[in-house]
Amino acid sequence: MWSEVVSANSNPVVGRRGLILILSSPSGAGKTTLTRNLVDDKAGVLSISVTTRPKRPSEIEGRHYYFIDKDEFIAMRERDELLEWAEVHGNFYGTPRKPVERTLAAGQDMVFDIDYQGTRQVRQKLPNDVVTVFVLPPSFKELKARLERRAEDPPEVIAKRLVNARVEMERWVEYDYVIVNEDLSVSYQSLKAIQAAERLKRDRLVGLPEFVQGLLSENLD
Ligand code: 5GP
Repeated sequence: MWSEVVSANSNPVVGRRGLILILSSPSGAGKTTLTRNLVDDKAGVLSISVTTRPKRPSEIEGRHYYFIDKDEFIAMRERDELLEWAEVHGNFYGTPRKPVERTLAAGQDMVFDIDYQGTRQVRQKLPNDVVTVFVLPPSFKELKARLERRAEDPPEVIAKRLVNARVEMERWVEYDYVIVNEDLSVSYQSLKAIQAAERLKRDRLVGLPEFVQGLLSENLD
């Protein structure tokens, strides 16, 4: 019921532009699961990044990332095919530009799982469309436990991610919203509430003046 209410266009008589909904967090805080849930609920289209990082055993090419080598990455960057890019944990990551343009033009929301460096670039390029959410773990101990439970990265990679997490967590001040992800289903409801409210922002609604004009000129006789 909840998801039906918030994923529908609550203003069906007026149109709206698609949102760029960006989630960032240190590795293991849960943002990937939250973005996947939104996409599975058809509440947004996931932006699939390109990366030079090695594929994890559970990952699927084209679903989690497009795995490319460094030369290919540099070539894409030089052809201006990336909306943003960053080096994270020693690997390159970037957002292909075309799918973003296509999705927003179709009035659908695009969901991004990118870091703070990429968030800054997207905000700079498309300031009116961007909504940013920072996801924090309930404790550092829990973050470490989640990374170890996931057991998809070698111990030295986990150690590096934990060191980087401290720096990444300080970026929360740059985000519009913050979710402390203790319980995934509560966090997901918060995310849906953010999306629902942002979709209703006056400036995002298309055709509102004409709609109100029509209301005012309705003849009740
Ligand atoms: P992971 O290797 O765990 O999938 O991702 C590592 C970090 O890179 C995460 O913080 C993730 O949000 C970030 N990331 C993934 N794709 C992109 C991207 O296209 N651009 C940027 N700037 N960061 C990304």
